Amino acid sequence: MSEKVTEPAGRSRQNAREIAEARFEKLFEDAEALSIQGYLPDGTVVYWNRASEAIYGYSAEEALGGNLLDLIIPAEMRSIVEGAVRWMFESGQGIPAGRLELRHKDGRKVPVYSCHTVVAVPGESPILFCMDTDMSALDSAEAELRIAATAFESQQGMLITDRRGVILRINQSFAQATGYTAAQTVGRPLRILRSNQHPPGFYSEMWSALLLSGSWQGEISTKRKNGEISADWVTFTAVRDASGGVTHYVGTQTDITLRKQAEAKIIHLAFYDPLTHLPNRRLLQDRLQQALSAIRHNQSCGALLFIDVDNFKTLNDTQGHIIGDLLLQQVAERLKTSIRASDTAGRLGGDEFVVMLEDLGSDLHEAAGRSESTGRTLLALLSQQYTLNDLVYEGSVSIGVALFSPPGSSVAELMKQADLALYEAKAAGRNTLRFFDAEMQAAVTLRAELVSGLREGVAKGEFFLHYQPQVDSHDRIIGAELLLRWDRPRHGMVPPTLFIPVAEESGLIHPLGDWVLETACDRLVAWGDQPVLAQLTLAVNVSARQFARSDFVAHVTGILVRTGADPRRLKLELTESLLISDIDDVVEKMTALKRIGVSFSLDDFGTGYSSLAYLQRLPLDQLKIDRSFVRNLLTDQSSVVIAQTIIALGGSMGLSVIAEGVEEEGVRRILGDLGCMSYQGNLFGRPMAVEEFQALATLSPAPRTVPAASSAPRS
Ligand code: C2E
Ligand code: MG
Ligand code: MG
Repeated sequence: MSEKVTEPAGRSRQNAREIAEARFEKLFEDAEALSIQGYLPDGTVVYWNRASEAIYGYSAEEALGGNLLDLIIPAEMRSIVEGAVRWMFESGQGIPAGRLELRHKDGRKVPVYSCHTVVAVPGESPILFCMDTDMSALDSAEAELRIAATAFESQQGMLITDRRGVILRINQSFAQATGYTAAQTVGRPLRILRSNQHPPGFYSEMWSALLLSGSWQGEISTKRKNGEISADWVTFTAVRDASGGVTHYVGTQTDITLRKQAEAKIIHLAFYDPLTHLPNRRLLQDRLQQALSAIRHNQSCGALLFIDVDNFKTLNDTQGHIIGDLLLQQVAERLKTSIRASDTAGRLGGDEFVVMLEDLGSDLHEAAGRSESTGRTLLALLSQQYTLNDLVYEGSVSIGVALFSPPGSSVAELMKQADLALYEAKAAGRNTLRFFDAEMQAAVTLRAELVSGLREGVAKGEFFLHYQPQVDSHDRIIGAELLLRWDRPRHGMVPPTLFIPVAEESGLIHPLGDWVLETACDRLVAWGDQPVLAQLTLAVNVSARQFARSDFVAHVTGILVRTGADPRRLKLELTESLLISDIDDVVEKMTALKRIGVSFSLDDFGTGYSSLAYLQRLPLDQLKIDRSFVRNLLTDQSSVVIAQTIIALGGSMGLSVIAEGVEEEGVRRILGDLGCMSYQGNLFGRPMAVEEFQALATLSPAPRTVPAASSAPRS
C-alpha cells in the first residue's frame, strides 16, 4: 500500500494520535497472514496478534505473559535465540530477516519468514517485535512444481500444448525420440508431427474424443524430423481450469516401433514357414476354415491342391540339405508368382505344398475344370528346370485336388481328401494330377476300418491257419503251405488278399507274421516224433516288409532256437516285390538263413518283373509257378510257353519247381510232361484245418526222397 493515510482537517492532534493508534492496533491485530509478537528482553510475551494464534496455535490469552523460548522456539534453537535476542536488545536493531523453523503448539515445525524490530520508547522497556509469515503453503507449492518438472523430464516423451494444439513445451525424451529440438517445435502446431499414414477422419475423431472425455489414447504413426515414420503409443489429457474450461493438453509419447516389429516377427514365426515364408499349416488351416465358411454365403466353389515334390528325398539324400532347401525355396517362389491374389499358397512341411483356390464359380463342373487347368499349369511350371547352385535339376511334382462346394465339409475332411488324391497321383507315376472322388473315399474308409479291425483281431487272437498240401509226382504229401485266415466277428471270413496288403501297410504284418512263424515252428516240433509227419516241410509266406526288417535274420533264428524246430523243415515263400529293395541286403539275409538250413521258394513266379540277372544272385531253392498261368494251361498256349520257360529256367538254375493252383488232372499232366514234379492246388486238397491235414498226411504214402531229419545244423 503506497497511499498515505491522511488526516481529516479540523481535528485536535491528540484526537488524531488516538485515531492513528487505534488504526495501527487494528491493522496489527487483523493482518491476516502476518504473525506479530512482542517480547520483553527476558522473552516475556507482551503482544500476540490473531495471525500468531493461527500460525503457532496459542491464543493470545495463552501466550501473553508466557516466554518466547517456551512457546515457539524448538529446543535445539534455544541458546541461539537467547543470544540473538540479547544482541538485538543490546544493539537496538533486529537480526536480518530470513527463514526460520519454529514450533507450533502441537509440536510440529512451522516454516516462517521472520523479521525483527526492536522498538524502544524513552522511559519504557524496549520491545522486540517479530513479524512472521507462514511459508508452509509456498513450500509445498514449490515442491509440487519440482516434482512436476522432474516428472516432465521422464523417460517418456511428453509435450504440452495450449488449447488450440500449439506446442508450448517438449521434454528431452520427446526431443530425442522425434529428432526435433524445442526451438523447432515450440510455438508450432501439433500438425507438424503428422505422417500421412492415417485415413482423413483420424485426427478429427481423435480431437473430438479428447474434447468429449478429456483424454484419448491410441497408436499414431508419427513423422520424425529425419522423415522416418514410426509407430507411437500416444496419450492426450486435457488440463482444465477452475471453471472447467480446457487450458492445455498434455501428451505422452512412447515409441512402439520395435515392439511392433517384434510382434510382427512373432506372428510371422507362428504362421509362416521360415524356409519359404509361405503360410504354414496353422495359417492354411485357418484360411481354409474361413474359405469354407465363406462358400456358404457366396455359393462359390473352391479347390484344395496338395502338391508333393517328386523324388525329393532322393535329391536331399544325395545332394544334401542345402540343395534340398534351395529346391523347396524355388518351388515356393514359383507357386507364389503363379497364383492369383485371392488364392493362397502354403507349405505343410517337408516337401508338401498347398494351393487353395477360391471363387471358382457356383458350378462344380466348371470349378473342376478351372482347378484342373490351374493344376496343369502348376505341373508344367514346377517341372521346368531348376538351378540349384551348380546343379541343374529336372524336377517334377504330383498334385492331388479336392474340390469344395456349398455347404462344404470340415477342414480335416478336405485335407484328407486332397492327401488321398495326392497319394493316387504319386501311385500313378508322378508328375501327375489326380482328383479326389467318392470311390477313393470309400476305399479309404474301408481301409481305415480294416486297420482298426485288424489291430483288434491281433490283440484278441482272431486268426488261425489253414494248411494246403504240397505233393510230389506220386501224389505223396511232402509238406504244406500255411495260409492265414481271419474269422472276424460280425463279418465272417475275411480273404487274405484283402487284409494282408492292409496289414503290410499298417505294419500289423509284423505281429501277424511272427505268430505264423512261431505256430509253424511249434507244429514242426510237435510233428518231430511222428515218423510220417516229421518228414514234412512247412512253407510260410513272408511279406517283403517283414523281410526288410534289419533284424529279420536274428528274429527268425530266435524263433527257431526258442521252439527247437528243425530249420530244414522250414521253407520261406518270398515274392518278387522283395527285389525293389536293396538286393545286396536280400542276398545277405537269405544266405545267412540258408546257412542254418532254412530254404526259400519264390512265390507267384512269372507275375513280377525281376530281371534274370537279379534272380540269379538270389540263393533260392524253388520257383513257384503262379496259379494265373497254371489255371489256363489247358486252354491257353501262351501260358504253356510261360510254364515251360519257368520250368526250364528252374532246371538251368538248379532249382526245384512247384506249381500252385492245380485244380484239374489235365493240368497236372501237362505240368508233369513239362518236367514240373511238385504241385499244390485244390486237386490235392484245399487249404484245411491242421487236424484234417495231419489225418490226410498220415494216410498218404511216405515220400520217397526226403532229406534225413537228423543232425540239422543249428545256430
Ligand atoms: P499265395 O501265397 O500265392 O497263396 C496261394 C493262394 O492260392 C491261397 O490263397 C490259396 O488258397 C490259393 N489256392 C491254392 N490252391 C488253389 C486252387 O487250386 N485254386 C484257386 N483258385 N486258388 C488256390 P489265399 O489263402 O487266399 O491267400 C492269398 C494270398 O495271401 C497268398 O497267396 C499270400 O500271398 C497271402 N498270404 C496268405 N497267408 C499269408 C501269411 O501268413 N503271410 C503272408 N505274408 N501272406 C499270406
Ligand atoms: Mg504263398
Ligand atoms: Mg502264390
